[in-house]
Amino acid sequence: MIEVAKARFASLKAGGMLPSPQGVALAVLELTQRHDASIQDLTLLVQTDPAMAARILRYANAVHGGSLRHIASLTHAIVFLGLFRVRQIALGFSLVDHYRSGACEAFDYLGYWTASLAAGITAQQVATQAQCPPDESFTCGLLSGIGRLALATVFPAEYGVLLQGHLSSLELRQAETSSFGLDHAALSAELLEDWGLPEIFCQAVRYHEIPGESPFPPGSRTQALTNALHFSAKVGQLLNLDDVQRWERLPSLYHAAAQLGLEDTDVPPLVEGVVRQWQDWGRELRLPTREFSDIHSLLSAPPPPGEEGGQTGLMMMPMRLTLLVPSPEHLRRLADALDAMGLALDLATDKTTALRLLQQNQTDVMLVELPDCGDAAIRTLYELRATEAGRQAYCIVLIPPQAETQVAKLMLAGAADYLLSNYSEAALLARLYAAQRVVSLQGAVRSERETAIRSSGEWARNNRRLLREALTDPLTRLHNRRYGLDRLRHEWSFARHSHASLSCILLDIDHFKRINDERGHAAGDLVLAQVARLVESSCRKNDVVFRYGGEEFCIVSPGTSLREALRLAQRIGAAVRQEAFGPPQAPFRVTLSAGVATLGTDTEDAESLLAQADRALYAAKTAGRDRVMAARGEHP
Ligand code: GH3
Ligand code: MG
Ligand code: MG
Repeated sequence: MIEVAKARFASLKAGGMLPSPQGVALAVLELTQRHDASIQDLTLLVQTDPAMAARILRYANAVHGGSLRHIASLTHAIVFLGLFRVRQIALGFSLVDHYRSGACEAFDYLGYWTASLAAGITAQQVATQAQCPPDESFTCGLLSGIGRLALATVFPAEYGVLLQGHLSSLELRQAETSSFGLDHAALSAELLEDWGLPEIFCQAVRYHEIPGESPFPPGSRTQALTNALHFSAKVGQLLNLDDVQRWERLPSLYHAAAQLGLEDTDVPPLVEGVVRQWQDWGRELRLPTREFSDIHSLLSAPPPPGEEGGQTGLMMMPMRLTLLVPSPEHLRRLADALDAMGLALDLATDKTTALRLLQQNQTDVMLVELPDCGDAAIRTLYELRATEAGRQAYCIVLIPPQAETQVAKLMLAGAADYLLSNYSEAALLARLYAAQRVVSLQGAVRSERETAIRSSGEWARNNRRLLREALTDPLTRLHNRRYGLDRLRHEWSFARHSHASLSCILLDIDHFKRINDERGHAAGDLVLAQVARLVESSCRKNDVVFRYGGEEFCIVSPGTSLREALRLAQRIGAAVRQEAFGPPQAPFRVTLSAGVATLGTDTEDAESLLAQADRALYAAKTAGRDRVMAARGEHP
C-alpha cells in the first residue's frame, strides 16, 4: 500500500504541480540542508524577508513562553530555535502565504488554513502527551492535512467534483485513491517526508485520521503522536465550524482527547489557550478566525434548533416550573392549574425571589409574566437567564395582548415561547406540551453527552496509565528500552538536522552477578532500583534515562558535548562509589563502569552511536571496571 503511494507520489512530484515552499523559504530549506550552514548565513537570508523575520521572532517568543527574557534579536531567535526548527517554520508559513487561494472552487482555501493553524497550535500544546518537542509538533499539526491542499492544487476540477459529493471521510479517502492513486493522508505523509520532517511525524500523519487502524504498537511514541495529531485536527475542525456544528462535534473531540490521555477537565482550558493563540496568529497570517466563547457553554447548551426528534406525548411528564408572576392573585390561579397537572412549582412574585429560587433548584421551565416588551422586561429576562438554571430552562413569557407585536424582542432575549395574559387553559396546555417535548429531548441529549464525556475522563485516566506502563520499566520505574531507543532515534535525527551535539552514556553495574549470587536476587533488585534513582537524580531534565537491559542503564543527553558527558558519567561513578546499597541493615558497596560516545560526522544512525558507547563500556570493563571510557579511545 505504502509502496504504491510512494510510486504515485514520485510521479506527481515529477509533474511539478505539488505545493512547495517559495522564495526565501525555499532558499532557507536549501541552506539548512547543507552541512556547513551557519546561523549567520541563515540570519542574513531570513532578514531579506521582513515578514518571515518577524514571524520567526514572534514564534521564538511564543515557544519560550516568557520563561526567559524576551527574545529581541533575530540571531538570538534562530539560535534559540535551532536550524531545524527555523527550517520547519519557514516551510509552514511559506505554504500558508502562497496557497491562500487556488483553482479548486469547492475547496475552502482560507478555511483549510484556519483549521490547520488551530491544529498546529493544538499539536504544540499537547506535545508532552505525544512525548515530542513542542516546536516540531507545530509544523507537523499545521501540515498534517497538506495532502488535501495538494489534491486541490494538482487536480482542481476532479477534486472539486469529489468534494461536492459531500462524502464521509472514509468515502472521500476511497474516492481519492481510486481517482488519483493515493489518498490525501498518504499524500500528506509523502510531502512531509520529501520536505525532510522526521520519519516519526510522517508516519503519524499517514494514520492520524484513523488512529485505530495504525500499525503502531499501543503506547509507542508514534502512536501517541498519531493520537495527538488526531485530536489536534479535531480541534482545528471544531473551531472552524458554526455553533450548531460545534455542538454536534464536541463529544467526538472529548473522545479523541481521552485517547490521548487527556481528561475531560483538561479539555476546556486547553482549547481556550489554543483559541487565544489561534486568533493572534490568525490576525498575523490574515486568516479568518471565528469567535469562540467558551467550551463550557457549548457543553451545557441545549441542542441547537432543528435537532428535535419529533417525540410527542400527550401525558404531561413530571417537570419543575419556576413561575415569576407579580400579581399574587394571578400567581395563585396559575399555580392551582399547574399543580393539578402534577407539576412541581417554585413560585415568586418578584425578580429577587425568582433569582434565588433559580440558584437553589434546577428547573425545566420558567414562566415569566412581563408587562410589555420594553427594555426593563428584556433586562429581567437577561438576568434570569444569566443563572445556570435559567440558561438551561425553557422560557415562556406571559405578556398582555397589546405587546404581541413586539414579542420578537423577548424571543431574541431568550424566550422560547409566549402566551397572552388572556390565555385559555387549552393554550396553556399546548404551550406546556411544547415545552415538555423540548425539555425531555434536552434531558436525553444532555445526559447522553454527560455520560459520554464523564466516561471519557475515566477512559483517559486508563489510557494514560496504560501508556505510562507500556513505556516504564516496572522494577526501576525508569523509562524502558522501547521508549529509550525511540527517543534516542528521535534525538539523533533532531541533532543531525540542527547540527546540535548529542551524547550517549551506557552504564553497567560491576560484578552484578556476584550480588545476586551472594546476597540473593531480591537484594539485586533493590540495588537496581537504588542505582536507578541515583543515576536519575544526577541527570538534567532534558536527559533521557532508561533501563537498557538487566543491570545496564543508558543516558541520552541532547545538546551535550563529549567533555560534558564524560563529566556527567564520572559524577555518577563517584556518587555510586560513595553510596551504601542494599538493605539498611546489611549495606554494601557497588561500582559501575561507563562508556560514552558523542555524535560525530561518521555516526551513521542512532544505533551506531549506541554501538560506540557499548564498545567504550567494554573497554572500561577490560581496563579494570569502576571507570569511565570514551569512544574512539579518548580518555577523560
Ligand atoms: P560485569 O562487571 O562484567 O558487568 O559483570 P556482571 O556480573 O555485572 O555481568 P553479567 O552480564 O555477567 O551478569 C549480569 C547479571 O544481572 C546476570 C543476571 O542474572 C542479572 N540480572 C539481570 N536482570 C536482573 C534483574 O532484573 N534483577 C536481578 N536481581 N538480577 C538481574
Ligand atoms: Mg551487563
Ligand atoms: Mg555488569
